[in-house]
Amino acid sequence: MMERKNLCVVKIGGSLLRDGKSYIEAAENIKKMFIDNGKLPIVVVSAAKGVTDSLIEVAKGSTKHLDYVVEKYLAIAKELSSSKIVKRVLEELEQLKRIVGTAANSFDPAFQDLIVSFGEKLSKILMVGSLEIVNVKSVELSARELIITNNIHGDASIDYVSTANNLEKIVNSILGASVTPVIEGFVGATEDGVVTTLGRGGSDYTATSIASLLGIDDVYLVTEVDGIMTTDPLVVPSAKIVNVMSYVEAMEAALHGAKRINPKAFEPLEKFYGSTVFIGSWKLFGTRIQRKIPDNMIGPKVIMYKSSSDMPYIAIVGEGVGNIRFIKMIIDIFYEKGFEVLGLQTYYYRPSMLVHVKKGEEVKILRELHRKIFEEV
Ligand code: ASP
Ligand code: MG
Repeated sequence: MMERKNLCVVKIGGSLLRDGKSYIEAAENIKKMFIDNGKLPIVVVSAAKGVTDSLIEVAKGSTKHLDYVVEKYLAIAKELSSSKIVKRVLEELEQLKRIVGTAANSFDPAFQDLIVSFGEKLSKILMVGSLEIVNVKSVELSARELIITNNIHGDASIDYVSTANNLEKIVNSILGASVTPVIEGFVGATEDGVVTTLGRGGSDYTATSIASLLGIDDVYLVTEVDGIMTTDPLVVPSAKIVNVMSYVEAMEAALHGAKRINPKAFEPLEKFYGSTVFIGSWKLFGTRIQRKIPDNMIGPKVIMYKSSSDMPYIAIVGEGVGNIRFIKMIIDIFYEKGFEVLGLQTYYYRPSMLVHVKKGEEVKILRELHRKIFEEV
């Protein structure tokens, strides 16, 4: 019997799941990085790339998108060349088509969640199959049975007490059998068994909840980038990886739109067991997120801009950015460079500073601030 301390949670992001080859690659990496090192990963999967967006259209009635999802998952199953997997995938796809066909009211949010949940469910079947192909004994867990939520369709919150009970009931059999369990992220069900989804990017929230409720130390969120960056590298090529962040900093960055993390992901970690979250790629887990950061790491971590609204702003996220010295430093930069400040906001209860700027100046100001804050020592 494996011991509980060997457990970890590994969430595979949808951006990495594009074709059969990428499922096998994920399975191989799970084996090499975790299983071969004596770890027992609980694997959480997202839907394959683009599938959730398509299924949302399917729920609204698009047959074109239904064809796309069916073809995509069938192609991946065939690429894995296992007749067992192809059969399972075909069965699920038939069921999806049947449900779409019986749609009475496509605006019913419960119906939408049911449709969208197939993205993760099929991805789970493909991941279990891929693990078997690389000789890892694997078993499907059912999010519908284990992850209990409220009934806010499309943005459900996990009921931690019932979910913890459910997870406790199965954890010993997982440890006893030493098989790698795979569960679909993003999906849950109400107490009455009605399928719900947890909000975009919700697989992270599934992963952190499982870890926190089972007292598991390490959660790995695997994506296509090496970690959270100081800013968008497409805007500022010299952006760097942020090595360490606290939960509140990561949550705040997520609220301002950093890397599509679901802000709810940090709630269970704040409330219950404080697992460490590693974000990165198979090459490098560059960012570590933990409950508290040491004093010498207090300061700005991430800077980004929002220009979608009438009131464009720059957000600087990090514990200590409300500190008077930091505020002065920022104001000095604006003053010296002649940038206009339309408003400035800091909070004593949130680790961020918002500076409202003139439309069209966002990028220029962001680059200048990034240079001063992160590139000059
Ligand atoms: N597939 C879902 C989404 O795209 C959940 C996730 O990826 O975490 O939002
Ligand atoms: Mg996704």
